[in-house]
Amino acid sequence: MLSKVLSLGFKGIDGFGVTVEVDVAGGLPSFNIVGLPDTNIKESRDRVLSAIKNSGFELPSKKIVVNLAPAEIKKTGTHYDLPIAVGIILALDGNRVCGNVDISKIGFVGELALDGSIKPVIGILPMLISMKEQSLFDMVIIPEQNAREAMLSEVNFLTAKNLNDVFLFLKGDMTLSSSLTSVDSPAVKKESVDFSDVKGQPYAKRAMEIAAAGFHNIIMIGPPGSGKSMLAKRLHTIMPPMTKSEILETTKIYSVSGHSLKGLVTERPFREPHHTISDVALIGGGTNPKPGEISLSHNGVLFLDEFSEFSRTAIEAMREPLETHKITVSRVKDTITYPANFLLVASSNPCPCGYFGHPVKKCSCTPLQIKKYRSKISGPILDRIDIHIDVLPVKFSDWSKDFKSESSADIYKRVCRAISIQMERFDGQVRFNSMMTPKEIKKYCAVNNDVLSMLEKIMDRMGYSARSLDKIMKVARTIADLAGEKDIKKENVIEAIHYRILDKSIVFDSSY
Ligand SMILES: [Zn+2]
Repeated sequence: MLSKVLSLGFKGIDGFGVTVEVDVAGGLPSFNIVGLPDTNIKESRDRVLSAIKNSGFELPSKKIVVNLAPAEIKKTGTHYDLPIAVGIILALDGNRVCGNVDISKIGFVGELALDGSIKPVIGILPMLISMKEQSLFDMVIIPEQNAREAMLSEVNFLTAKNLNDVFLFLKGDMTLSSSLTSVDSPAVKKESVDFSDVKGQPYAKRAMEIAAAGFHNIIMIGPPGSGKSMLAKRLHTIMPPMTKSEILETTKIYSVSGHSLKGLVTERPFREPHHTISDVALIGGGTNPKPGEISLSHNGVLFLDEFSEFSRTAIEAMREPLETHKITVSRVKDTITYPANFLLVASSNPCPCGYFGHPVKKCSCTPLQIKKYRSKISGPILDRIDIHIDVLPVKFSDWSKDFKSESSADIYKRVCRAISIQMERFDGQVRFNSMMTPKEIKKYCAVNNDVLSMLEKIMDRMGYSARSLDKIMKVARTIADLAGEKDIKKENVIEAIHYRILDKSIVFDSSY
């Protein structure tokens, strides 16, 4: 007998409909799954057979063939267990199992444990959203623990604890519900941070403001304890609220990455992976492909502390996402794309000992050591970072002052103005000055002759490349936008030049 059961799949963060066809026939006992299943699905054979037996169904030794259609898309995940088990029972004894329920209007998603209980799966949100958008079927049966995430998709769903309950429901002997039964732990309140916590550091705070306003990647160079990570952790507090589509896209990424979702991701993510992180965990991919940290920080901030300690291959692999705002990972016979539009905040010590340029402590490094250390920071990624700043320890006089520093809300007012100017500039699209093409830089960053001759002099004296000059102009554009100025002024350009410290050669001054 042949049966057909509907289910869902996902690739990257997009869902699609899947039909699970099961044929049970006489012949040598075997169990094959075809239709580009990955290793997880191949392993589902053992789970499904045990779950069926332990749920009290008889399973005669027969030849079982399962086809996951459409066959050309690679299927991944463990959630096909439930539809496969339902398909097998239906193929064995279809009419008796289904009461009045029209099986062609119901989808099934869930992983089975050997005892027949249904376990939660990843990717529920993108799958259920595709069910709604593509009108695939009327209702879906999902694992109980996925109910909260399913609610975000606003589709009709029912939850089941185990395989037996599913069959009792299909027979008409039991009702399933869609309410949340488990007691939820109260949502953990995020530690609230604000720029007013940062004393002193006006130059670094200003650079953060510019980074947020024009979505400019930024690197901070400074000794340990100078407050680099404190500044980075506050950057998202001066970024605009997420748009509806940003919220949905970011939440989908968390759904397929296996984070248990308590609700939509409505706050811009802040991620700070340690430098010992594996390339796969940073970039994404792997045998059971998942988004990496660069995608988990999509629409938010990715903070790489001790940037020069990250592996060369990991840093190299970040070139593509920094350019295209997405990452494509290759697998056997397949590629998967995840969004990865993040604001990169990197930080580094100025030298191996950490105290080069420190006002009090003495650096014990040789000029050669420092040069070698700095060369690790430079290279292809530095080309994609618009703002470089020095962050020095707060002076005692600043620390001891009892004045109130500017709050995130105050700074955000200016950022907000700059963003609306940029929206107007780029025809209502959410685009930022940092994303300008060379042609756009020419068009929107025109300056008068006075500024041009100043730039020429600086270029000759400092040895800036044309690429550095483009970055200076982009940052100057953002500075002018923050001030609400139509034209870029000389002082805007001068300020932008101050945020290019790594373009300058290091001066080994004995006074340090
Ligand atoms: Zn040193």
